[in-house]
Amino acid sequence: MQTKNRSDNIVERADGASDDINVAQPVAVTDEFWMEQALAQAMDAAKMGEVPVGAVLVGEEGFLAAAGNSPIRLNDPTAHAEILTLRQASEALKNYRLPNTTLYVTLEPCIMCMGALIQARIGRLVYGATDPKTGAAASVYTIGRDGRLNHDIEICGGILADRCGDLLRAFFKTRRAG
Ligand code: ZN
Repeated sequence: MQTKNRSDNIVERADGASDDINVAQPVAVTDEFWMEQALAQAMDAAKMGEVPVGAVLVGEEGFLAAAGNSPIRLNDPTAHAEILTLRQASEALKNYRLPNTTLYVTLEPCIMCMGALIQARIGRLVYGATDPKTGAAASVYTIGRDGRLNHDIEICGGILADRCGDLLRAFFKTRRAG
């Protein structure tokens, strides 16, 4: 799915819809492919009793890292899927900056994770479901695109949002039932 040449990624949206996506950037076809990988990470997290959120980091050459939400398992309040993914990629690339990468995550990131994405200087964030209670990319805060920090992130929300949200709703429904 992922092509090496960025210009090859330019795909016209079949429905002709205009939205925030810059047509010069990789668009929905590629985004959905990577969001599927993030969903797989989220499903793995659910199996381990974690809130099902998953993330994948993609660079210009393709896949870099992936992780599921793991704070309970790791006894670590910072072990969100996004943070673990950034750590893995930084370790692999031996670089604490991750420019020209795209982070795919099934749920709109929290304040902490938006802060980490800024620290890492990622170029683009694509998320699935919105989080009206703690989302910091669009819902509660607009970190990374309000021009108030030294780095802005291109942000695209709502990719496979229904499936990303259904996974969370099903998880919490099961937990309440238990
Ligand atoms: Zn977070």
